[in-house]
Formats: sequence, C-alpha cells, structure tokens
Amino acid sequence: MADSSDEMGTTTIIAPGAVARLGEALKTIEATALVLVTGAGSYTRSGARAAIEPQLDGYAVELVNGFSPNPSVEEVAAGLDAVRRASLHGPPVIIGVGGGSAMDVAKLLAAGAAQERPLGELLPAGATLAPTAATLILIPTTAGTGSEATHFATVYKGTQKYSVAHPSLRPRWALVDPDLCASLPPEITASTGVDALCQGIESLWAVGSTEASREHASAAIARAMQHLEAAVLAPTSEARLGMCEAANWAGRAIDVSKTTACHALSYGLTIRWDVPHGHAVATSLGEMIVFNSETSEADVVDPRGLEHVREVMAKVVRLLGGRDPEDAKRRFNDLMCRLDLVLNLSALGAGEADDRRWLASQVNVERLGNNPRRMGAPELDALLSRIAQ
Ligand SMILES: [Zn+2]
Repeated sequence: MADSSDEMGTTTIIAPGAVARLGEALKTIEATALVLVTGAGSYTRSGARAAIEPQLDGYAVELVNGFSPNPSVEEVAAGLDAVRRASLHGPPVIIGVGGGSAMDVAKLLAAGAAQERPLGELLPAGATLAPTAATLILIPTTAGTGSEATHFATVYKGTQKYSVAHPSLRPRWALVDPDLCASLPPEITASTGVDALCQGIESLWAVGSTEASREHASAAIARAMQHLEAAVLAPTSEARLGMCEAANWAGRAIDVSKTTACHALSYGLTIRWDVPHGHAVATSLGEMIVFNSETSEADVVDPRGLEHVREVMAKVVRLLGGRDPEDAKRRFNDLMCRLDLVLNLSALGAGEADDRRWLASQVNVERLGNNPRRMGAPELDALLSRIAQ
C-alpha cells in the first residue's frame, strides 16, 4: 500500500521498512521535544530500537516504559512527568512504539496532559475531554489492535476497563512496518491477528457501522482470512504485510463503528484470567455469528432494520467461507484450533457459575447496545453457559 493521507489527517505508511520514515515524519511536524513510549522487551526484540534511535539524534527525548500489558490510570499519571518535561520545549511529539498497550499509553499520555483534572477522575463521569496539544506518531510492532488507526485507548481503573476517546488522539503519522513483527512468537502473532479478524467481523455487524466502515471491515476480514494462518504457522513477508493491512483496516473500521458483544465480554477474561486480548475476544465470536444471524423483528436493535442485519450477517458468513451461520462458526472455531487458541471457558479456568456471573457483571452495557440483536442479561447468561460447555 502506498502512503495514504486520510480525511482524518493521518498519514499511514504500510510497507516493509516504513519505520525508516520516522525522521522524515519528525521533520515534517517540526518536532522539538519527544516523548518515546515503548514496550519492555519488544522495543529491542522487534528491531524497532535499532531502526529508530539513529533517527532521534539531535532531539531531546523523554522515555516512558515499564507499564503493564493492561495499563492503569496510575501508570498513565506516572508517565505524565515525562510529558511535562518535554512540554517545556514546546508542544511535544509523543511516539508510541509497541503492541496495543504502548500505543494506547502514548494516546493516554497525550490525553492526560491536556486535562486540568487527573484522567482517573474524569473516567467514570464520562466527562468531555479537552483536545491534546501533543502530536502522536504510532509505530505498531504487532499486527493486531489497529490502535494506530483509532481515536481511542483502553485504560484500567482497578478491574474496570474504560475507553478514553477524542478525535485529537488519532496519530498524525502511522508507520506500519511488517518487518517489526517478524520476531514475534507465534502465540502473540495468533492472538493479535485474531483481534484484527474479530474487530473486522464485529465492526461489520455493529449498529454503529457506516457504508465506509463496512468496506474497511470487509477488507480486513478478507485479508485476515487469507493471511492469518500463514502468519502464525508458516510466516512469510507477504503474510506479515497482509496481516498489517488487515489490522490497520480493522482499526479504521472500529474507529467509526466501535466494537460489540465479543469485545464487551472479553475484558473480564483478560484482566482476571490473563487471556490475551484477541484470544479472549475469540471465545464468544463463533456463537455470536449464529446468535446475530437469528435476529428477528422482535429483537432487532439496528435502526436500519432486519433486512440490513440479515445482509451484513450473510456477508460475515460468506467472508468466513461458510455455507450458513453454523458452518461459519465451525470454520472460525476450527481456525482458532489450528492457531492453538482454546475457546472453551471451562478449559480456560473461567467456566464455573460464579466466574460466569462475574464476567457478566464486568460487561460494558454500551457495547451490547452496539450489537445488532438485543442482548440482555438472560441472553448474556445463555451465551456464557454455551461457551463454557
Ligand atoms: Zn480488540
């Protein structure tokens, strides 16, 4: 894919060697002071450090690292000192290099630095955030979350997950370099790649979708179905590039549509049972294909009506190569099996009635409202029981 500048003001480069364009990006922005947010081991292992550091000569650089995989409001608050120091030289450029967490921390620092009150105090109130003065450059080292294409970030306060969103949190530059994913262990390629696939699928059926977001979602699903298995089991540079594109398209799709029930259910599994994000999302996705395909006039939530929901569900089934919803579910679940991802809640240690009740209690109701078919407490309960069997 060539360089693309979208209407949101993000210049996206998806290509081998894209990370070498960082210096050019910094010149274009006329950067003075930088905040570099990186993952722990991934920064060196991915080759990002070797590619990035020579391009930072002559800039004052503040480093932020050492945060957990599910970043907390406390960790974000601790990182804000680095942003304040950088801000003494002018509006900072915050560079996030890593998986979804590093990119999210970069966004959260940009958001946190712009607020008069601590971010942690603003979350439960659903307060409107002030726009950030920082400029973001995001460089993913996994092909998965598509965070480099969205205007929101995930943060935890205790076990509760929040989304921090503002249009100013879209990056100015997204440098997506498949070579940075080459050193990933297969289980991370699998869980992050599955996140891209699931985000594409959920986005396609989301109530919040638009024609444009559905195009991006469809492209993401098609690419992921073509390249995910190879990227995990027999990686080639073509498969890695394909998954980077899939992840970025899925990111663009959910940037508009947001995600739905499978994501809503996943966060509890991740925070309490340490199931990696994409893996956790996949546990309910197969069942949700069947559930949403059985939407009726009595329980359709999407204001575009039953016909629309039937069309998008038929498209999901088709893109997964299925003959019907059950067949699509089977194909999805078989693919997860080949990628060595266990879907059953009981096998993951989260299948007891108490566990299921706790998981249901963690669900973000707003995301269930984005599911095309009504999902209340009884439906959620039934879904959790089915995937625990
Ligand atoms: Zn996700």
